[in-house]
Amino acid sequence: MTSLQKNGEVYNPLESMMSRFEEAAKILKLDKSIYGVLINPARIVTVNLPIIMDDGSVHVFEGHRVQHSTTLGPSKGGIRYSMGVTLDEVKALAAWMTWKCAVVGMPYGGGKGGIKCDPRNMSQGELERLTRAYAAAMADVIGPDKDIPAPDMNTGPREMAWIVDEYSKIKGAYTPAVITGKPLTMGGSLGRVEATGRGVMVTCRSAMAKLNINPQHATCVVQGFGNVGSISAKLINMMGTKIIGISDMSGGYYNAVGIDIAEAIAYRDNNNGILEGFKGGTLISNEELLELEADVLVPAAMEDQITKHNAPNLRVKLIVEGANGPTSSDADEILNKKGIHVVPDILANAGGVTVSYFEWVQNRLGYSWTEERVNRRADRVMKQAFNDVYEAAQKYKCNWRIASYVVAIDKVAKTQKLRGVY
Ligand code: NAD
Repeated sequence: MTSLQKNGEVYNPLESMMSRFEEAAKILKLDKSIYGVLINPARIVTVNLPIIMDDGSVHVFEGHRVQHSTTLGPSKGGIRYSMGVTLDEVKALAAWMTWKCAVVGMPYGGGKGGIKCDPRNMSQGELERLTRAYAAAMADVIGPDKDIPAPDMNTGPREMAWIVDEYSKIKGAYTPAVITGKPLTMGGSLGRVEATGRGVMVTCRSAMAKLNINPQHATCVVQGFGNVGSISAKLINMMGTKIIGISDMSGGYYNAVGIDIAEAIAYRDNNNGILEGFKGGTLISNEELLELEADVLVPAAMEDQITKHNAPNLRVKLIVEGANGPTSSDADEILNKKGIHVVPDILANAGGVTVSYFEWVQNRLGYSWTEERVNRRADRVMKQAFNDVYEAAQKYKCNWRIASYVVAIDKVAKTQKLRGVY
């Protein structure tokens, strides 16, 4: 995994995840033989893809697909395009998907794919040829019953459409269920765009109920104002909670009376996707934003935002992790001591993979659900998952993060035992 340099220290978000895995494995007294199965990916495929570039030269791109686990079902996880892609990163992200799918009870294992490339410096034609070459090379690796990719960093519905098209041509049958995150006309699901933020809101509401925080009288700060951050802010605000701070790459915006989220979203949409110049709040730094006093903090920007350096200064009761890996493992202990509860990433942002599962189900049924049905079912899944984690935390006397890993690892380990090994 890419390591990040911050405050002169190197952070590795996925090492953070593994340290939590180890803690949960200890609580579960995980069998050594199963432990070995769970920490090693089931299958790794690396391909080299020669592509004719627009200038006539041929460039060879390295691509990977890792199926960490297929114990609970076909592996599931996105494909990212970035110069930072390495096999180690893809392996770790695939494992992360295994725990995320398991904690919300999706019948999926975990997988991940990646191509080392710089999509911002490639033409649409080059990207299309690269994506189709990857799909062709992986045609026997992925499949609706084997491994179902989705978008991740720098990929979206456009790339997913190319993969469905290429895969369908190779197999001689239109197969939308091979991919999720497709455009709506190709079998994408209603509700997918809002799904992650919606899951954040549902788990936030459940956590508030357990902590006796009345949403109508509560305040919340949201870091990041992209897909997850803005939708979480909108939906948490709709519960009656005042959003007193929002932020993006341009900085933080604070308003004690409450930010008008609809206005902020409209401003961002008319301003190249950023909040720069937004007048609905006082400009503050992103560091200050994280340390605002509020009931709830939703980090929804990127990894390693809450560390041992700023955790002592946090002034919230509850953190709901919209982003992946926003809290470093050395901050966990500080948050525990301060009595700050955390709904961890693998639970809080699993609404996205839940609706991806619904997309796959709809494709296989050849039927599409209304948005209302998608939301209702997703809400039910997220509520149940939160309750399972809450009960595990009571039973094992651990925090919600470790409890999430306990729930996930226990499911995979028990199923692996039932399925058996040679
Ligand atoms: P996005 O690109 O739509 O939005 C990211 C936002 O974070 C932008 O507003 C950006 O300006 C802001 N940002 C970037 N750096 C920042 C910084 N240093 N301080 C404050 N704000 C900063 O991305 P997204 O899809 O909303 O994803 C956000 C996080 O949620 C990521 O960690 C992602 O892995 C995770 N996630 C997303 C989904 C999904 O369905 N989109 C699902 C699960 C997890």
